[in-house]
Amino acid sequence: MTKRKKMILGNWKMYKQQQNALHDFCAIQDGVLSSSTEIRVGVAAPYIHLSALSQRRKDNFMLLAQNVHWEHEGPFTGEISPSMLKDLQVSGSLIGHSERRSLFGESNSSTGKRLRGAIMCGLEAILCVGETLQERESGKLTETLREQLTTAFKESHLAACDFMGSHPDTPLLTIAYEPVWAIGTGKSATPLQAQEAHNAIRLLLHEFFSQSVASKIGVLYGGSVKSNNIKEFLSCEDIDGALVGGASLDPVEFLKLISNAAR
Ligand code: PEP
Repeated sequence: MTKRKKMILGNWKMYKQQQNALHDFCAIQDGVLSSSTEIRVGVAAPYIHLSALSQRRKDNFMLLAQNVHWEHEGPFTGEISPSMLKDLQVSGSLIGHSERRSLFGESNSSTGKRLRGAIMCGLEAILCVGETLQERESGKLTETLREQLTTAFKESHLAACDFMGSHPDTPLLTIAYEPVWAIGTGKSATPLQAQEAHNAIRLLLHEFFSQSVASKIGVLYGGSVKSNNIKEFLSCEDIDGALVGGASLDPVEFLKLISNAAR
């Protein structure tokens, strides 16, 4: 059985002025690297801070953007290209976060294009999927996840491209399952609900990719994860880590969460 490396990522959304971002980034990075944990840890910061944070970033700590366009350059006011992120030595990007979908009208199809742009440029892509409460309550959980994943994979022609990059054990693709009703609400899914969804995603990955590729793609859980519930999620068979919003804003809480995840 393939052993996937655990991953814990923070999503800082539209929080923190630059001095605060630099301070907290260094505090988290130093705390993680001095603990010599096996877990891969990183933070997705606002675009405007990436250049400054990148200058402080050390090997083995991930710095991510929160979104990325698919083209290398062009008349796309307000967008940032994959090569611009690469140029700053940013490790990768979140793609298709539910706030991008629900508040800024991003579709499964444009999410797929962003996914392709990132991967083709050698960036790590964290593809976010998840159902609304209404979809869950009307029994459409699996259907929704299937639609989100298959449209993104088809649109990005992912099955045909080499996204294992130069690191055969860490593919450039990671999935984050984030039930929309659990994001920023303080109401997390139960570990059982999360495990069911993760299992459905894992089966879908095996339908879409070869056994050797699918088994290496990590699936993170996101939705009100905190230091006091991370262990329950990580004890589930198909949960490989977490994408953490609110609890990643305070370095003390985030480092506690990471240390609990390592136990
Ligand atoms: C997120 O923004 O991806 C998220 C999971 O937020 P929170 O942890 O605050 O629910």
